[in-house]
Amino acid sequence: MRSRGHMSVGTKASMDLRRSVALPKATRCEECQVPLAAVDGLLVRYGRDSGAFYFVSHRSEALTGYAVAELLWGDGATGAVAGIAHDQLILPDERERVRAEIAAVGEGERYRVRYSLRRRDGSVHRVRESGVVLRAEKSRSRHQRAAAQRTVTADGVALPPADEWLVEALIEDDSEQVASERRRDDAEWRFRSMFENLVVGMFRTTRDGRYLAANQALAKLYGYASPSALVASLRNIAERLYVDPARREEFARLIREEGRVIDFVSEVYRADGTRIWIAENAHAVHDAAGDTLIIRMAQRLREALRAIDTVARYGGDEFVLVLAEHSGLHHTMGTLERVQRAISEPLFIDGRELRVNCSIGVSLYPENGDDIGTLLRHANAAMHHAKALGKGQFQFFTREMNTAAHQRLALDSALRRAQEANELSVAYQPKIDPYGVPCGFEALMRWNSAELGPISPERFIPLAEETGLIESMTDFVLRRACQEAVSWPLPVSVAVNLSPRLFRDPHLAARVEAILAETGLPAARLELEITESALLGDLSQTMTIIESLRALGARIALDDFGTGYSSLTYLRRLPIDIVKIDRSFVTDCEQGGEAMAIPRSIIALGRCLHLRIVAEGVENPRQLEQLAAYGCDEFQGFLIAKPLSPEDARAFLEGKRVG
Ligand code: C2E
Ligand code: CA
Ligand code: CA
Repeated sequence: MRSRGHMSVGTKASMDLRRSVALPKATRCEECQVPLAAVDGLLVRYGRDSGAFYFVSHRSEALTGYAVAELLWGDGATGAVAGIAHDQLILPDERERVRAEIAAVGEGERYRVRYSLRRRDGSVHRVRESGVVLRAEKSRSRHQRAAAQRTVTADGVALPPADEWLVEALIEDDSEQVASERRRDDAEWRFRSMFENLVVGMFRTTRDGRYLAANQALAKLYGYASPSALVASLRNIAERLYVDPARREEFARLIREEGRVIDFVSEVYRADGTRIWIAENAHAVHDAAGDTLIIRMAQRLREALRAIDTVARYGGDEFVLVLAEHSGLHHTMGTLERVQRAISEPLFIDGRELRVNCSIGVSLYPENGDDIGTLLRHANAAMHHAKALGKGQFQFFTREMNTAAHQRLALDSALRRAQEANELSVAYQPKIDPYGVPCGFEALMRWNSAELGPISPERFIPLAEETGLIESMTDFVLRRACQEAVSWPLPVSVAVNLSPRLFRDPHLAARVEAILAETGLPAARLELEITESALLGDLSQTMTIIESLRALGARIALDDFGTGYSSLTYLRRLPIDIVKIDRSFVTDCEQGGEAMAIPRSIIALGRCLHLRIVAEGVENPRQLEQLAAYGCDEFQGFLIAKPLSPEDARAFLEGKRVG
């Protein structure tokens, strides 16, 4: 999640010391005694246009094969000879690109560029260079100080001309192996931080640069005995902390304009006057409202998930959600959409409205990894991808899942427009009795999308159920089917499917009643098909609604019977009128014998309970004969007719050949 606000609150991370850098004087980090030699990167300062090196750390030889003195530009004072220019370290093919990228960077801005470095022995090495562009006169005094101190190190320092644009950069090995190790370290580091939050220096400051709070890790990093000692002595961040006070201005500007800083690298004084380089990640929030914001977001996350799911603060404004079991992509996406909706609801803190959005990265177990470290790493990578895509996105780790997710979103947005665009229609599949006399039709929704072509209900109905669109779509089918049925030449029934979700609305029966009144169809001609899963929700509410529908005079059919969880005895207790034997039993029944056992029992019991029995998916005469022999009342399926257009349905009733 990213929040926007005004004051600055944040995590100040020394990140890892491998990546912190130091001026020549500080040959080791006092805090952890890591010698600078362990900083696995080459620290350089060079002229942006000339490429002349003015500072080269002693790691030079390891990375480039050149000794410090070979790279360093002479300035008379040091006696060094004119060295190799920055350009010459870059593979010729890539020079222009790298130059252009660095030339585009404004004063004080940071950049990161990757290229192939040609070592002294001609071998080629992938590196990444991250740095900042400065004007020489601005940092000249610093260079002079540094030059004066250089005798203590093997690092080389030379003085640049005052009018030159300078680049200060860290060049690091970026070979695939190192990069992946780095990624792994990052992920592991962050993972640990979930439990040992305090490995990161954290602070909260006011807008004008006073500390409000700091943690032990930050105090230690800056060399103070305790957080309170830090807060008490570091009264003016701009002057007391940053070696270059302009960095504080820059920090404040970024917070003001962009609401955050990411990997903001600067040099700071520790309590004893020594200096270290730090990378800061901070973001703005309203005053002390930051904590409240995080807490409220955590509450919303908890509410958006089920009790068996887990929410954990991952540091800063990042959370890890562990979804206990995922029953398919649809379900997961539904959950993520719920989370995003919950987060993006406006929030009021201290009378101010805040709007927050979140980027979500998802990794799935076991598809994307079988240990928590791998899963977190992959989720993290996906989250960064989501962030790059803009506000309020989510991304899965694998391409296939992203594609599926993307298609689903496309389908959803097309479906939202379908109704207005007149793309929905209704087909009518006839049912006949054992003598071949038509006794009714089942209304089946059809969607012919202008963009995507005809889409099967098997695809769009589940989506509509999940997103709630099914409500208005059912009203549409119901209204159409009733209007149509009123105009049929015979007073046969029409059956409409009601998805389980509709039973969440206690006014469902009233809606049906209104449509019957509006269209003038007698309720006795309306059948409503429900599946057993409708009974899985609030059972007593569902029962009440079913009773109200029957009270109107409509009949209730139990669809797909035999595929759900109900036992035959359960049938007796349900307030229903019709049972539809699922297609899967009908397909088998032509074999007779044992395959008929289930349909036979359903028919027998149904008859005892005075229920009408409909067989669906009847595709051949053999199936029909078998079922008719045991007393099945109605038959529906391709044998009789496919779902028909309204005109064909009418023709069917008139005894004309259709299809
Ligand atoms: P259902 O309610 O079981 O509908 C019967 C499905 O079986 C229809 O598929 C129909 O075309 C198909 N069918 C009919 N006879 C045969 C046959 O002899 N052999 C085979 N193999 N299939 C046959 P359709 O139209 O694709 O609908 C699929 C499902 O979509 C429906 O299954 C129903 O669950 C849902 N559906 C369709 N329209 C609506 C609607 O308006 N509202 C709701 N809630 N669901 C709908
Ligand atoms: Ca049905
Ligand atoms: Ca069915």
